[in-house]
Amino acid sequence: MTPHTLRCEFFRDPLGLENRRPRLSWLLGSDRDGEVQTTFQVKVYGDPESIGRKTEVVLWNSGEVRSAQTHLVPYAGQPLRSRQRCWWQVRVWNGDGQVSDWSELAVWETGLLEPCDWQAAWVSAPPPEGRGLEGWTVYLRRKFELATRPERARFYLAARGLCQVRVNGQRLGDLAIAPDWSDYHARCFYRTFDLTDSLRSGTNTVAVVLSGGWFAGSIGFFGQRFHYGRLPWLLGQLEMDGADGVRRYVRTDGAWRASPGPIVSSDLMQGEDYDCGAEIEGWDRSEFDDAGWVPVTVRERDGVALRVSPSPPLRSTAEVPARTVSRSGDGWLVDFGQNLTGWVRARVRGRPGETVSLRHGEVLDAAGGLYTENLRDAVQVDSIRVKDTEPVVHEPSFSLHGFRYLQVDGLAGEPVAGDFAARVVHSDLPLTGSFRCSDRELERVWEITLWGQRSNFVCVPTDCPQRDERLGWTGDAQLFGPLGCYNMECAGFFRKFLTDLADGQSMEGGIPEVGPRISTFLDAAPAWGDAFIIIPWLLYQMYGDAEPMTEQFAAMERWMGYIERANPDGIRRHRLNGNYGDWVSLGSETDTVFIATLYWIECARLMEQMARVLGLEVRADFYAGLLARLGGACGRTFLQGDRLTSDTQTAHVLALRFGLLTAAQRAAFERRLVELLEANGGALDTGIVGSAHLPEVLSRAGRVDLAYGLMNRPDCPSLRFMVRSGATTVWERWDAWKPDVGFQNPGMNSFNHVALGSMAVWLYRWVGGIQVDEDHPGFARFRLAPRPGGGLTWAEVTYDSVRGRILSRWEREGQRCRFSFDVPANTEAVVDLPGADSSGKCETVVVGGGRHVFDRVVEG
Ligand code: BGC
Repeated sequence: MTPHTLRCEFFRDPLGLENRRPRLSWLLGSDRDGEVQTTFQVKVYGDPESIGRKTEVVLWNSGEVRSAQTHLVPYAGQPLRSRQRCWWQVRVWNGDGQVSDWSELAVWETGLLEPCDWQAAWVSAPPPEGRGLEGWTVYLRRKFELATRPERARFYLAARGLCQVRVNGQRLGDLAIAPDWSDYHARCFYRTFDLTDSLRSGTNTVAVVLSGGWFAGSIGFFGQRFHYGRLPWLLGQLEMDGADGVRRYVRTDGAWRASPGPIVSSDLMQGEDYDCGAEIEGWDRSEFDDAGWVPVTVRERDGVALRVSPSPPLRSTAEVPARTVSRSGDGWLVDFGQNLTGWVRARVRGRPGETVSLRHGEVLDAAGGLYTENLRDAVQVDSIRVKDTEPVVHEPSFSLHGFRYLQVDGLAGEPVAGDFAARVVHSDLPLTGSFRCSDRELERVWEITLWGQRSNFVCVPTDCPQRDERLGWTGDAQLFGPLGCYNMECAGFFRKFLTDLADGQSMEGGIPEVGPRISTFLDAAPAWGDAFIIIPWLLYQMYGDAEPMTEQFAAMERWMGYIERANPDGIRRHRLNGNYGDWVSLGSETDTVFIATLYWIECARLMEQMARVLGLEVRADFYAGLLARLGGACGRTFLQGDRLTSDTQTAHVLALRFGLLTAAQRAAFERRLVELLEANGGALDTGIVGSAHLPEVLSRAGRVDLAYGLMNRPDCPSLRFMVRSGATTVWERWDAWKPDVGFQNPGMNSFNHVALGSMAVWLYRWVGGIQVDEDHPGFARFRLAPRPGGGLTWAEVTYDSVRGRILSRWEREGQRCRFSFDVPANTEAVVDLPGADSSGKCETVVVGGGRHVFDRVVEG
């Protein structure tokens, strides 16, 4: 058995961590079935050269720890200092007492842990007279001398805005849009860059382009700007350790100089205007004479904390080439074949002094032209003012668009598809899931949810990437969370989102409806703000990570208090804020007080469980009491005999999912849900809240066939209908477009909204059958319970859990079905299969690591 893929806090070899007790994890490789880890030993070194010598610098030697734990083992060695580099390795013992070799070395490095480590000031420069602050983007530079090349150099960089860094003429790092968006009133994130290889002896220059981004640019409705401030600011500290043991600093201070540059205006939502004629040749190099630049404005550091985002940063992870270019009006229409978030790298030839414009849109109108009405007040137009007749290769720096199509105007000649590539940009979360099956259209259903996630996991879980909104809507986040966590590893991403929500919590305990909070938005509605309770539990289940719930427990209690103070009788009627109910449902209206109360019940249940995990027994008992009280009040208010007062699909789904039911009530509600579905021709009429749970609830009720029916339905409403209508991402509404009516009301009609896609988590959980066991979080032990059906002849689903890859595959011929599973070493799976084996047995079995094959005779 060999340990491999060492990670520290979910990262490979991270730089600039702020954790003082970072947690260490590894995967186990083994070619023997059923291997387990009985003991591990971790060693952490302060100097890799010293390993194996007498003078070995050991920061922590865990000793031989008798434990199966491979995931999130907390560092417990010498206290960590700022800027400390720690090398580590692990070895493990198997059940026979055989010890593995030491793993390869991995490394992590701390960032600046103490506030006093920061000696830099905030710098900026206002635009020249007569130019407004909208879209203001400033070029900053600083020249300095070094007698010798440093042995190690780090740039710690924060911005109230967005920045791109260049060192001696070269772009530093591969981050697309940085640093991350935060609630700038509470914290600013900084990132650590390694520029050891970028510096040289002699004169060096650091140069930064700084733009407003989320800090000063448009966010939310009507493209409103300046939510946190008007001028963007930069704070950076460059630290260079010489061979002489001396550390030299270059900090943002009054020695920096500033100038306007070719980015005339930039905004995440509105687009970017670039003037080739205003380019400043060599501005980022040392030979450049910056005498004509102005000194920066300096502002001392204030009380706002400089912190490290736990989330992976935004990166451009792929390029989608243009598929076609065709004539459109006086210009050209480019089709990338995929709706996505990012920008276009374009090779354009224009007319000197004139502008080439790139307009982005998701869909085409009936006449085949770019449809932009649904963007509302988001312009998403990039423009390039061309200097001469030479072709220019251009991409914007600080602007993001949601698009599949591009309308290009102002070109001098005829473009070809090769002139355009779409850069796909999102939080660079590792892909952890896959879904394949015999039905290509069902595979597409899964794929459009993945593209929806790529488009909307952009620093925060946005509702949509194109119109004037693009906000971290809590409801969408919690509903899509489970599928999101199968598709990609979201541990750090959601942990950061919880921080955004906590930073925006009101004095009364109100969770903002969007995170980070925007001052013009309300406290959150039921099912929306409850994301703050639901997501920490989800992270614990999927990743075995209890830290997010530890970190936020007090704030979660304040949210629970906010609800309870307003609703002392146990029915959630007050402080419903936006009260969105079962948003975008189709014609059916579920009682919003019922939805609110059931979500409250679910929150009480989760709070009890979380308190137990955290060892807070008194609080756990309190929530157990609350749960019982809410259950009683709910029954008295919403039950008439064995019928619910709200007689909709969603009401029954939520009652079955969250309610405290007797066996008789459960059976009655299941029957009624099936009746309601059948009365509607087998079609759902649920919105985002009901839909997320509908297939799961049907499957638990033994009606997997009906869940397959929902997935197989070819016409509206269904995800398959979207696919058949050419969707490449999930739509905001079931009827965003219909052949007989065309587009829905453009006031609210995005073609890239993850929420309705949430139900596709069912593909992992029931087609693949890969399910968490609540008592063994992080897939230490899990269920494999696939349910073939829906006319599929085979399916193959994988999930890269934090303990290794799980594979579930089945293949059937008539009633004979072969199931094969890969179970990671040192884990256990409870295999629960339909039908019976050749001897007529149908019991569940528990298996250990390895490949397992079962033959069954199944029905249907
Ligand atoms: C968003 C939704 C969000 C909702 C609140 C919309 O504008 O796009 O996805 O949850 O507002 O109802």
